[in-house]
Amino acid sequence: MSTRSAAYQDILRASEQHGCPLCHIGQKTARSYLDNLLWGSVNDPELRAELDKLLGFCGQHSRQMMTFQGERLGVAIVHHAMLKEALRRVQRAGAPPSRSLSARLGLRKSGDGSDSPPVLEPAGQCPVCAKQVEIEARALDALVENLVDDLDGPLRDAGGLCWEHLGLALQRCSDPKAQARLVEVQSAVWEELVGHLGEFIRKRDYRFQHEPISDDEAVSIEKAIAALTGQYPPVS
Ligand SMILES: [Zn+2]
Ligand SMILES: [Zn+2]
Repeated sequence: MSTRSAAYQDILRASEQHGCPLCHIGQKTARSYLDNLLWGSVNDPELRAELDKLLGFCGQHSRQMMTFQGERLGVAIVHHAMLKEALRRVQRAGAPPSRSLSARLGLRKSGDGSDSPPVLEPAGQCPVCAKQVEIEARALDALVENLVDDLDGPLRDAGGLCWEHLGLALQRCSDPKAQARLVEVQSAVWEELVGHLGEFIRKRDYRFQHEPISDDEAVSIEKAIAALTGQYPPVS
């Protein structure tokens, strides 16, 4: 199976559930990266050296690690090594706890030895975010290449893309026909959503409170949040 067809299949599968399929693909990528890391690779010296260099994960993915049942030991091993690396960097920069302690430990000060503030070697990009960006870019290309009269239907049924992925999709879309179709699909789903939200608000007015709120109207708030901010896994 070619890379493109694998990405195409990913979009099709992701579109079977509601919400931005690109967000779903990104989340699946993150879950499987973290799962592999915690179950198999946590003691792989090469990977660990790479993680130490990057100095960890973003806040979202660090916290997501803690949602993997029974894997606190793996999370502890990874963070033990990375925190040691952070400690090494802070000491190398000559940062406090205190100048006298630094001197006792024989640590050098930053720069020319003047009183300029210590500079820490920056952390790299979160490896899970980097993997997500790579996989999502591939999926976005498959989406825009196969949108017209093909993936436009499943995308419409899934409720379209989130704001961020829509922007990225339009940027990567050079075919005017595909651009127009993407705007058309997205407009249709958001017009419907705006309508449901409007009805929800109207029916909260005491004059119309006797009118029942439909299921679509009831979930329109969550859908509007997801449309504007993306699909996030529940935080536990
Ligand atoms: Zn998205
Ligand atoms: Zn991340």
